Amino acid sequence: MNVLDSELMIAALLREGYSLAESMKKADIILFNTCSIRQHAEDKIYSALGRLRLVKEAHPEKIIGVMGCMAQKDNSLIFKRAPFVDLVLGPGQIARLPELIEKIRAGQGPQMELSLERRGRGRHEVEDSFDFYDPMREATARLNPFMAYVRIMFGCDQFCTYCIVPYVRGPEQSRPVGEILAEIRQLVDQGCREITLIGQTVSKYHDKTSGTSLSGLLEMCERIAETTNLERIRFVTSHPNSMTTDLFEAVRDLPHVMPYFHVPAQSGSNAQLKKMNRGYSVEKYREVCHQIYETVPGAAITSDFIVGFCDESEDDFQQTIQLVEDIRFKNSFIFKFSPREGTKAYELWEDNIPDEVKRRRNNELLAVQNRISTEDSEKFIGQEVEILVEGTSKNANKLTILEGQDSNFYENSHDPNAILQLTGRTPCDRIVVFDGPRSLIGEIKKVKIVKASPFTLFGE
Ligand code: SAH
Ligand code: SF4
Repeated sequence: MNVLDSELMIAALLREGYSLAESMKKADIILFNTCSIRQHAEDKIYSALGRLRLVKEAHPEKIIGVMGCMAQKDNSLIFKRAPFVDLVLGPGQIARLPELIEKIRAGQGPQMELSLERRGRGRHEVEDSFDFYDPMREATARLNPFMAYVRIMFGCDQFCTYCIVPYVRGPEQSRPVGEILAEIRQLVDQGCREITLIGQTVSKYHDKTSGTSLSGLLEMCERIAETTNLERIRFVTSHPNSMTTDLFEAVRDLPHVMPYFHVPAQSGSNAQLKKMNRGYSVEKYREVCHQIYETVPGAAITSDFIVGFCDESEDDFQQTIQLVEDIRFKNSFIFKFSPREGTKAYELWEDNIPDEVKRRRNNELLAVQNRISTEDSEKFIGQEVEILVEGTSKNANKLTILEGQDSNFYENSHDPNAILQLTGRTPCDRIVVFDGPRSLIGEIKKVKIVKASPFTLFGE
């Protein structure tokens, strides 16, 4: 979500005549697009800001901005902790970025624009003032011109007790189908071969006017793919409670929709799931996974887990291990619980699992997941897989392009025939590394797998 927001911020500024700087040092404007999901993410921003204090003293004309969820959450506290910051901008206000920068440049002082009053826990009575504007998409502002995220939902109404998202990203709202399809067509015209539909609970997607669900939307995307160069359609993140048979069948029956599901479980213990307010039992979660495997041949499922949430016992944790063993996720993202002020868990319960226990559980779960990922990756050796070639492995997943490389960095090779280490992904989202010429980037290619590590396949 932040990668998409960063693209939109860059695009908004490019259209005003700005360009990406080659380095932070050369930049006139330095923007941090922040996350507040865990304390660690926030600490990193405050220390990065700290390092800019002297820079700002030496160059008061440089504009420093904090955008995104942490801006929304900490708002004026940011000016207190880092008084040299010029701009604090919530995640729903991207469209206002150029105008606010102009105000600062015109000497009107620091600017702050937030998306809404913070919501009361579990209540939605606060009038939302989110701006649902997604500025025009801009291929040169993307990490990879062939792949793009498309927001289909804003916000979240689930109110999991540990989670800050509903407070900083506002109420759940589905974007109208027409707007989404128009954006996808525009992206395809710009050369996009893969789109990923994103939202906090995309399986709940529901367009009020047309009654379209996620499976319906996927079908409409498939129609676009049939007549254009669009090759792959993905969607994240799904919530187990809203995943129904029509979704599994759509993924099975629509050839351009990839058989990959990100369905965070968070825990394998019913006591923990209840305390987290996830709204499902572990039995229900397992049932959803089995339905996916039964309906969609070769499907991969990935998950998120929180270890060391309030009161998590050793037995609760062992149930999480068992779930990972049984479902055999392609990958799991494992987080140590981080209390977030304003959430129900923060207000009501003690963060009572010591950090060394969190760390041990994190490592233990990771080891189980790594073993499973290795075993499953090795099954690919000798097989041919179809991949979308994304770029050189040097640049793969590297967000530093946003710090200002040549925006056409894929094209600036001196020798188009030089053999480079390239990367791509399989339909199930497994990363493949292989050698080939730059001209393959953006193409769908068959690669034979010769070697495997837990999270990377090596091919020819
Ligand atoms: N909407 C998605 C999750 C978005 S947040 C869903 O519900 O599945 C991404 C992940 O961050 C979550 O799945 C959770 O595992 C983790 N997370 C959220 N809040 C956290 C907290 N307070 N401490 C640790 N991890 C957290
Ligand atoms: Fe947070 Fe739960 Fe919403 Fe995911 S579903 S964003 S974890 S509140």
